[in-house]
Amino acid sequence: MINESNKTALPEKASTTVIKTNKVDTASLPKVTLHEHIEGTVTPEMAMKLAQRHHVKLPDNFVMADGQYDKADFPNGRYAYDESDFWAFINTYDSVADLMRTPQDYYDVTKDYLSKNAAEGGVYAELILSPAHMAVEVNPETGKSELSAPRYHAMMNAISKAAAEVKEETGLETRFIATGVRNMGAENVKQVAEFVRDNPHPLVTGFGIAGNERAGKFDDFAEALSIAKSAGLKLALHAGEICGPESIKDAVRLGASRIGHGVSAPQDPEIMKELAEKNVMVEVCPTSNRILVTDLKGDLANHPARTLYDAGIRISLNPDDAGIFGTHTGKEHRISAEKFDFTKAEMLDITLCGIENSFADVKTRKQIKENVYRNMSSEDRKEMKDLADKAKNPALKQRLETRVAESEKVAKKMEIQKRRANAIKSMNTARMVMLGKKAGLTR
Ligand SMILES: [Zn+2]
Repeated sequence: MINESNKTALPEKASTTVIKTNKVDTASLPKVTLHEHIEGTVTPEMAMKLAQRHHVKLPDNFVMADGQYDKADFPNGRYAYDESDFWAFINTYDSVADLMRTPQDYYDVTKDYLSKNAAEGGVYAELILSPAHMAVEVNPETGKSELSAPRYHAMMNAISKAAAEVKEETGLETRFIATGVRNMGAENVKQVAEFVRDNPHPLVTGFGIAGNERAGKFDDFAEALSIAKSAGLKLALHAGEICGPESIKDAVRLGASRIGHGVSAPQDPEIMKELAEKNVMVEVCPTSNRILVTDLKGDLANHPARTLYDAGIRISLNPDDAGIFGTHTGKEHRISAEKFDFTKAEMLDITLCGIENSFADVKTRKQIKENVYRNMSSEDRKEMKDLADKAKNPALKQRLETRVAESEKVAKKMEIQKRRANAIKSMNTARMVMLGKKAGLTR
């Protein structure tokens, strides 16, 4: 989702997600977030704070009062819009996005979101930014709204300060994806791509296209995408959420290494094969899809996450708009384990896929992956091996076998390090004893 009204389909009445206990303790798992729009992260609490700051009167009943919702299911508060009313959702989204006006707003929102993400086991996160929202201001000379480099730099400084602080406090690594909004037109998206190319930032490592999927064809955006690619940015494109599998095919053809949503992929066996073979990831957003994708009929039993995974396609689990949907990465993992029956080994594989398909540099990806392996127990490694042995899909089997080999390599390395540390410790003890004896002799 993005801040601009971008959906045309009206979903049927969606059911409320009921969180039940599931077999996997997802709370302790390391987690990766790859699909989250910064304006969508704003929690009800944060929205109230920003509204007060900017003297904005929010509509009555904008957020639910305590007691009106289950605090355990919505720990960060809950907006009051009716999930079955698409336009009520869009209005809430637009009202919230409109509250993000200054670098301080972006700093506060980023810090709040990333701190919470780290607290629930986040090891890596990417946030989607829309320069057409955050970096536009009225040019006093022309009177026209346009992309402003000074404004963009001020916002990026605030956002990256928050990311650096969270990294320092928790270790969570963050990168950003600049996105064009397709319903603003091909020319606008091209301008955004040029703007991002001309104003590079070390933490902006990807380029995306979001917005109403029905607005134009992917080929209309080919020029913008090639500008982004030539600037060294990797592509994560929203496709197959509202439109059919042909949109995913087009996105892959134009160089997407990740597909946002991709719900319609199973309708075309060819694209399923291509996604698996080319290691193109599908960014699954369960709660968002349940609420907004009409075909799911409000029920995650109709979601293809399990089908995608079993076909060897790399998936990640994301909130999309954590604040607006009243969700968070941890909750999406919990829902996924329960609704799609993912085992612990599968969840660990999903996290490792997320790191590998992230837009961080090779060194960072390697480091985070190793940390995940270091925290795997011998039981986890055994479960991973059993999973690899049982896997039927060749791409999945190969990936899991690599996981087994890599995790055993890290375990061996840790064992050697432990033995070395013990040897040094006993050598030091022996030395202390000897020095002690010597001191006794000379006394
Ligand atoms: Zn999205």
